[in-house]
Amino acid sequence: MSPETTSVAVIGAGVVGLSTALYLLRSGQRVILFDPLPPPGGASFGNAGMISADTSVPIALPGMLPKVPGWLLDPLGPLAVRPSYFPKALPWLLKWVAAGRLPRVLAISDAMRALHRDAFACWKELLGPTHYADLIRPAGQVHVWEADKETEGAALEHRLRERQGIPSQTLGPDDLRQMFPGLSTAVKRGVLIPGNGYTVNPQRLIQTLQALFLEAGGVLLPESVMKIIPCDGRAGYDVMTNVGFHRTSRIVVAAGARAVRLLEPLGIRVPLETERGYHVMLPTSGLSLTTTISNKSRSFGVTPMEHGLRVAGTVEIAGLEAPPDERRAKALVASVRTMFPGVNVEGQSFWMGFRPSTPDSLPFLGEARSYPGLFLAVGHGHFGMTGGPPSARLLANIIAGKATGLDPQPYRPHRFG
Ligand SMILES: Cc1cc2nc3c(=O)[nH]c(=O)nc-3n(C[C@H](O)[C@H](O)[C@H](O)COP(=O)(O)OP(=O)(O)OC[C@H]3O[C@@H](n4cnc5c(N)ncnc54)[C@H](O)[C@@H]3O)c2cc1C
Repeated sequence: MSPETTSVAVIGAGVVGLSTALYLLRSGQRVILFDPLPPPGGASFGNAGMISADTSVPIALPGMLPKVPGWLLDPLGPLAVRPSYFPKALPWLLKWVAAGRLPRVLAISDAMRALHRDAFACWKELLGPTHYADLIRPAGQVHVWEADKETEGAALEHRLRERQGIPSQTLGPDDLRQMFPGLSTAVKRGVLIPGNGYTVNPQRLIQTLQALFLEAGGVLLPESVMKIIPCDGRAGYDVMTNVGFHRTSRIVVAAGARAVRLLEPLGIRVPLETERGYHVMLPTSGLSLTTTISNKSRSFGVTPMEHGLRVAGTVEIAGLEAPPDERRAKALVASVRTMFPGVNVEGQSFWMGFRPSTPDSLPFLGEARSYPGLFLAVGHGHFGMTGGPPSARLLANIIAGKATGLDPQPYRPHRFG
């Protein structure tokens, strides 16, 4: 394929870029995909793998403002802001707090629902039945709390589920201990969301997408895009990479948390911040879980993967450059021990990744203002394994000029001005 004939260049081969590239390829486009790292090299590698099709609760919720001092003072808290990074993050944090007002939360929840509800269907479309059965478990998800009474957050989640008509089942202490032998008595309450599920291995899932993309005739170049340059006096773009120069008529920027570096030189300003998250792998945990568990009191989740138990979560606002704080991963080990006192934590390994996050938990999907043919597919935050494939389908339909079946307005890239 000569660069001159490329019809769409996709930048970034995480879950969002690869899903978009595959949908585009299947709709008849010639697609070239750029990523310097072997997929999955970003957040798509180490996430908790939860596919939360029936979750429509944004991250910013009412009552966050009084919590800001705590975020600054406790570096190991479930949500921490590094004081030195606070001034840089402040504009994004203010938009985030504003997105947590109840009327906004209801509208955001509607848009999350519209995007997420087809997550499993899109994964099946992308993977086909055999890979889907191998990699995806639509086995439900359990949320648990350590509080005796329903917390405000849990009550709001319940209200949002009812508003969206999402089935759920309340679980008492006996139900929980029957479902999860070895669960600590500290866990008091739970909710089963049967419409959610997980992947047994995010890395293998993304590698499978990559293999399907290559089999279908896609081109993947291990190059880092340095700059997007609009062509002088005619439609299209030049893509300057660390080792090459490519011409294309359309571009999809799916570079995750690093997308800002490509967009800012063009004057495209979107509030995209990274919420850094950590995981711990426990290869021989001794637990045999059949669903994921999301511990809402401590803001972490556990997922039974084919290569061990993954304990993942927490949010650290510290930008793209600060080194990881492994104490946060160790705090996850302490948390899982509180939930399952008998868990075997030998052989643990740590990882940190960059969630690409918007203030309102909705991605930026669609064409950039003033740049015809330049599309954004970034900002999936905590929900890329869920919202990535449906976003990819939506964007591929927009690019191909087909009916989208979903109102793209809530995800428009310029909604913050
Ligand atoms: C701890 C943790 C737990 C999570 N748990 C879940 C979960 O359970 N369920 C869920 O739905 N989501 C979860 N997420 C979120 C999910 O992982 C992300 O939303 C998703 O992976 C984002 O995908 P992406 O393709 O946008 O970005 P990425 O996966 O980060 O991919 C971006 C790619 O772009 C490439 N790139 C960047 N710049 C350039 C450039 N200049 N040129 C070429 N390529 C470039 C990078 O190398 C990278 O491969 C979690 C995230 C974390 C950190």
